[in-house]
Amino acid sequence: MSETTFEPVPAVEPDEPPAAAGTLVMKFGGTSVADPEKIRRVASRLVEAKRAGSRVVAVVSAMGQHTDELVSLAHEVSPQPKPREMDMLISVGERISCALVAMAIADLGLDAISLTGSQAGIVTDTVHGKAKIVEVRAHRIHEALDSDRIVLVAGFQGVSTDFDITTLGRGGSDTTAVALAAALGADYCEIYTDVPGIFSADPRLVPGAQKLDEVTFEEMLEMASSGARVLATRSIEVARSHNVRLHVRSTFEEGEGTWIREEDETMLEKALISGVVHQREETVYRVDGARPAQLFGALANASVNVDTIVQTNAEIVFSAPVEDKPDAERTLEGLGVSWTCRDDLGKVSLVGAGMKSHPGVAAKTFATLESAGIEAAIVSTSPIKIACHVPSSDVDRAVQALHEAFELA
Ligand code: ADP
Ligand code: ASP
Ligand code: MG
Repeated sequence: MSETTFEPVPAVEPDEPPAAAGTLVMKFGGTSVADPEKIRRVASRLVEAKRAGSRVVAVVSAMGQHTDELVSLAHEVSPQPKPREMDMLISVGERISCALVAMAIADLGLDAISLTGSQAGIVTDTVHGKAKIVEVRAHRIHEALDSDRIVLVAGFQGVSTDFDITTLGRGGSDTTAVALAAALGADYCEIYTDVPGIFSADPRLVPGAQKLDEVTFEEMLEMASSGARVLATRSIEVARSHNVRLHVRSTFEEGEGTWIREEDETMLEKALISGVVHQREETVYRVDGARPAQLFGALANASVNVDTIVQTNAEIVFSAPVEDKPDAERTLEGLGVSWTCRDDLGKVSLVGAGMKSHPGVAAKTFATLESAGIEAAIVSTSPIKIACHVPSSDVDRAVQALHEAFELA
């Protein structure tokens, strides 16, 4: 694989025109564009925003479950599809939806143009399947906006420094939207989805979960990386480093959603806990006799997103997403270390900026799990998070018990 040096966040070309006032980046997820009727509704929303005076850039995801269907199709044809070809295939879903939205906008009497990630100037590194954006060359978008068009950009994809089509990892259209908002100097980025905002727990699992008005970048990063799939983790990293405020809101209802922004004094009186986040599956590895520097260096080179790490004497335990398992296994075999892994664990995490200054959260977490008869295999913490790996079959119960114990409803 070729080595690419890159900046961790998208850089704007130095000769780019100055940030244009009134640029709005709006991102619509898969459920928001799931059928022709919904596509026409998205088109109307974009036309409305344009008529209200904004320069409008929209990022769309693939229709409904289209990406999942393409992934299954690949595996029906080939047991181990080449990552490059996989990206050629799964990037197609977003191209379809953005062309359809552009057609629907034309029917409403406005001019629109759809662009692939590559045409939109999204340049990535060469890691297929989870590429990182290294630069946004936005001149084509600026030109289209200058000629009064609404610009549709296919989410979740770019072109690599080796000129291949890449994808940004599942949920990556969020990252496309935030990177564009940063590069175009948009004041904020609107994420339209199938729930009215960020909730104190996944509203599909906890019906009494509360919508949050504001969440800090740090909290949202912890929530996303702990399993709240409502925003891609990488999108929040980019938003935080470029100070792009995010507004997560419903495609189907009017009304304010949740603002994600930098913490300030008005947020100091925040609730102790903002949310309980879960992940039903996460692979946990146990490695014996490896040097940590060598082990984690090799895992990083294989683009394995290591989460929790616990080291005691010669034993190292770490967790990583299920989808990274083939890469992790290959790496561990390559190192020739002795290792085992568990596939029966998930993770429940409590996240809250208020936790920093309040002791006792851990004690209450343990007491709650104990009285629910749930045993945590690993517990790890950050200043604003407590994460417990528990059996996958207990994850839902653990979320509900903790949500109730911390009175989040
Ligand atoms: P999109 O297709 O719009 O990108 P996603 O399916 O990626 O939407 O993300 C939205 C989903 O995230 C919601 O339907 C909800 O079930 C889930 N979710 C998980 N945790 C939360 C949370 N704390 N707040 C809101 N939604 C959450
Ligand atoms: N369609 C892609 C996915 O399903 C990207 C996205 O929806 O953000 O992961
Ligand atoms: Mg998503």
